[in-house]
Amino acid sequence: MLPRWWCRAWVDVSVSAGPVKLRDAVAHRLETTDPRDFVAAWIRGEDQAMVDRYLARASVGPILEALGPEAAASCIGVRDQRHCPSCGGPPQLSYFALPGEDLAAGGRVLLCARCHDSWGYARMTCPGCGEDASSRLPIFNEEGTTSGERGSVVRGLQGRLDLGVAGHKAVFPNIRIEACDTCRHYLLNIDLAADLAAVPVVDELAALPLDLYAREQGFSKITPNLMGF
Ligand SMILES: [Zn+2]
Ligand SMILES: [Zn+2]
Repeated sequence: MLPRWWCRAWVDVSVSAGPVKLRDAVAHRLETTDPRDFVAAWIRGEDQAMVDRYLARASVGPILEALGPEAAASCIGVRDQRHCPSCGGPPQLSYFALPGEDLAAGGRVLLCARCHDSWGYARMTCPGCGEDASSRLPIFNEEGTTSGERGSVVRGLQGRLDLGVAGHKAVFPNIRIEACDTCRHYLLNIDLAADLAAVPVVDELAALPLDLYAREQGFSKITPNLMGF
């Protein structure tokens, strides 16, 4: 089981370098809770307070990733197309792989929120519930992007971001919201071909305005990211 000092290290890093809200939340967390409790709850996929989920993911995620398939296989989770084949965890995000990568499902890949393994998934199918009727799968792009795949609903975020930039230059030109009217969930999709320097797990964290927009439309993310969005 995870040593207490390892969780302690994440608390120290969060307190010294994290945003104020996070600092306040984690400052005394280990004094009031045994880390084994919130780590076990996270492994079981239970609903958790944001700070518990953050500490569990931040401390266990890199270990699972480093230990590889054997450790991931010991996790409790669902084994189907919508969950990670290694650990049974839910997808954090999806991305379109670069042309030429040897991947199934037309180059769309889901990235596991737990162990960061990835697997191919159909492009126009909801990773939350399996809905595949395109009329029920709205896509939200920023104004200024060229993405306009089947039945896309393109809504501008430019005026909402207040960046003081004239015109319609997109802030996140390679990221879009892929939502589902059936289960009311969404995730963010990163198009690697649109930005060769993209790092999906980092870009997904940075795209907070898109998360806020999706929430305003009444959708909730399949799995909140490390920062709780
Ligand atoms: Zn996984
Ligand atoms: Zn769905």
